[in-house]
Amino acid sequence: MDSKAVTQFLAMNNKASLFNDASQRLENALQHVEISEDAIARLRLPKASLTVSIPVRMDDGSLKIFTGYRVRYDDTRGPGKGGVRYHPNVSLDEVQSLAFWMTFKCALLDLPFGGAKGGIIVNPKELSKAELERLSRGYINEIADFIGENVDILAPDVYTNATIMGWMMDRYSTIKRQIIRGVVTGKPLTLGGSKGRNTATATGAFYVIESVLPKFNIDRQATTVAVQGFGNAGATLAELLSQAGYKVVAVADSKGGIYAPQGLDIPSVRKHKLQNKEIKAVYCQDSVCDLVEHQTISNQELLTLDVDILIPAALENQITEENAADIKAKYIFEVANGPIASSADKILNQNGVKVFPDILVNAGGVTVSYFEWVQNLSGWYWTLEEVNQRLKAKMEAETEQVWDLAQELDLDMRTAAYVHGLKRLGDAMDAKGNRDYFVK
Ligand code: NAD
Repeated sequence: MDSKAVTQFLAMNNKASLFNDASQRLENALQHVEISEDAIARLRLPKASLTVSIPVRMDDGSLKIFTGYRVRYDDTRGPGKGGVRYHPNVSLDEVQSLAFWMTFKCALLDLPFGGAKGGIIVNPKELSKAELERLSRGYINEIADFIGENVDILAPDVYTNATIMGWMMDRYSTIKRQIIRGVVTGKPLTLGGSKGRNTATATGAFYVIESVLPKFNIDRQATTVAVQGFGNAGATLAELLSQAGYKVVAVADSKGGIYAPQGLDIPSVRKHKLQNKEIKAVYCQDSVCDLVEHQTISNQELLTLDVDILIPAALENQITEENAADIKAKYIFEVANGPIASSADKILNQNGVKVFPDILVNAGGVTVSYFEWVQNLSGWYWTLEEVNQRLKAKMEAETEQVWDLAQELDLDMRTAAYVHGLKRLGDAMDAKGNRDYFVK
């Protein structure tokens, strides 16, 4: 593939795009790894991108057309794998970036999958449950020929959940006239979901944190933590950390956050968020108000708090050139995908902030998705203990390898993680033999 094609594609994607920014990480890593030119050229562009229009009959009888995407970035190491996001800001650029990250994440964790991602431009909170179900089934109608348990496998992401995954699996099975559980992971347990999947991203991140911090002689009780994003990943991780003795002092969701230097009672915050739907209101409305002094803070204020560990667990591009210099945390564990813009990496590095990258830290989700797929294909289901034991072993082993590579090549953890994944991707691409096939 000639470099003109890449240039044209990037120009089409507009220069300020998230995908261009994500690609920057690949370019950095390429300087530290030897893989063939063919593999490099192929890794720079997504393999296939699909845009669909989804007609949905609304409850009031009107017809609304939603735009959806599915991108398969690469499938050399196995079927595409990646979540589906429902959000008003979803774009092809974002879905391509998320599919790119999935490709490296699956390779980094040595899962037999390529990388993919999907999304629909929608604010799901504005739809009724019936409209949401029709939209989810409609999305599958439009992409059914593009996915499959050995082609491209879906999963939950921001504002999608097990119920939605169940509808999607059911719709796909109806279209194909056979029950095909493995086309979607993150399903309800009763429809072939895996134990431990709903907490897997947070549990995986917890294992990474616990593997890394002893290397810096960190004492849990003396370690303060701030978590941005209080959904599936962020809230579960905040609870795991506080149970283990870390002092979680601040949490925030899209509507704002709370801060208590002496530490928050996370189970209570979760309970109240469930009841009140937002964190900001939590402490002031109920009995928890009496338990701990706190102050309300904005999302941006949370990012720049003087804490030991910062955990962005919401959306992309939260730490950029604008606010990177104000970050006071010593360690950042990226639970969200792409929360740090590539332009901020350098500033954080210069300031001695240690960043542990998304493709490693949040890979617990896709790892247990892989376990779910294996269970679906074999028809043999595992206990929660088996799932967590295997997850722990995988997360610890790959964290250790990335750590060793970072020490050996004197790299930051992000570049080391990409190098680690790149080697596996390059080997797989070359093993397929396309290089000789295309030689004139
Ligand atoms: P979720 O929908 O359950 O929660 C998202 C949370 O972020 C919500 O609390 C929301 O209020 C909050 N939020 C949204 N915008 C915000 C903002 N500007 N500032 C602060 N908070 C904001 O989603 P999730 O599944 O927890 O995913 C969160 C991140 O983790 C995403 O980047 C996702 O791609 C990534 N991730 C999730 C999984 C998974 O298995 N759930 C796996 C890998 C990566």
